[in-house]
Amino acid sequence: MSALNSPSEYALSHVRKLHAYTPGFQPKGTGWVKLNTNENPYPPSPMVDEALKEAMGDALRLYPDPRSMALREAAANLHGLSPDQLIFGNGSDDLLNLLVRAFACEKAAGYLMPSYSLYPVLCGIQNSGVVELPFDRSMELPIDELIELDARILFITSPNAPTGVGFSNEELAKVIEGFDGIVVVDEAYADFAKETAVDLLSRFPNLVVTRTFSKSYGLAGLRLGYAMADPSVVDILDRVRDSYNVNRLTQAGGLAALRDQSYLKAVVGKVKRTRDFYRAEWEALGWFCYPSQSNFLFVEPRNASGETGPEVAQGLFEYFKQRKILVRYFPSSPLTASFLRISVGDEDQMLHVSETISKWLKNA
Ligand SMILES: *Cc1c(COP(=O)(O)O)cnc(C)c1O
Repeated sequence: MSALNSPSEYALSHVRKLHAYTPGFQPKGTGWVKLNTNENPYPPSPMVDEALKEAMGDALRLYPDPRSMALREAAANLHGLSPDQLIFGNGSDDLLNLLVRAFACEKAAGYLMPSYSLYPVLCGIQNSGVVELPFDRSMELPIDELIELDARILFITSPNAPTGVGFSNEELAKVIEGFDGIVVVDEAYADFAKETAVDLLSRFPNLVVTRTFSKSYGLAGLRLGYAMADPSVVDILDRVRDSYNVNRLTQAGGLAALRDQSYLKAVVGKVKRTRDFYRAEWEALGWFCYPSQSNFLFVEPRNASGETGPEVAQGLFEYFKQRKILVRYFPSSPLTASFLRISVGDEDQMLHVSETISKWLKNA
């Protein structure tokens, strides 16, 4: 120990340089309108509650099914796939991590900017190279540049975060067909979208589609996600995961949620109606808002003098926060610094947001 100042110096050199992922702020106490991490404002299916109660007690002595087979079968049924095309994990973040672990080490991982900010963090942990491709202000998919990226695995968030813009299967198919490597379409928000890349799985063995229970199913606290892919890719991911990566309660609760598709449809329908209503309302104020296929809106606020920009966006962010409304602000890129990402809340929450915006415009 004598030669070292701190035991942390025994850590791998790339690990010593890491910065941990910063998740959205989780406030303490009550009274917050929490629209900063795209959680569902509505509770999960009541079936989940029942299933969790049933799974409690004596059964918790026993390890869970290491392969989450009941979940694989139920989701295979839902998507018209076979169970060997599915793998479940501790949130879809777990699957994204396994994908980086299995495919990104020797050659780089590619992703777009802005998109889900966890990808670079996972690559850092794995000591993998990264190639970042920026969007332009249109936020449309740069198909030809993506195909040419020198990477082994490509991450495309669709619908994208934080913009909410969804990419069509026609566009995605061009990328998947042209790219020499694995293409992951991260469909965390697909239940709110018009199309799903699941329909492309039969055509492209290099496609992986990931899903989560954290957004549309309202189960962010349970931690459950899955990936759909060619059986040979699933087999690779099965080799690099924790053997018990989905606990017993999560398997039971997730299965109940998956089986209650009518509840899911009702909740998703409500969120989409609220989303489309407020997008129209903010556009009527003269605010630019990307067309959203997700459960959030990415909006460029305009102050009473008609100005937009980073100071305006940050000003409204602070104004909201002082009134216990949490939204997300991404100041680090000029493509995002003039915008706020506002998760779609329930009707009361959104009314409160709307009234707060009116006050902000009057006070300016
Ligand atoms: C929320 C989100 C995830 C995380 O899903 P978990 O299942 O909660 O790990 C993954 N990708 C994107 C784009 C997300 O927005």
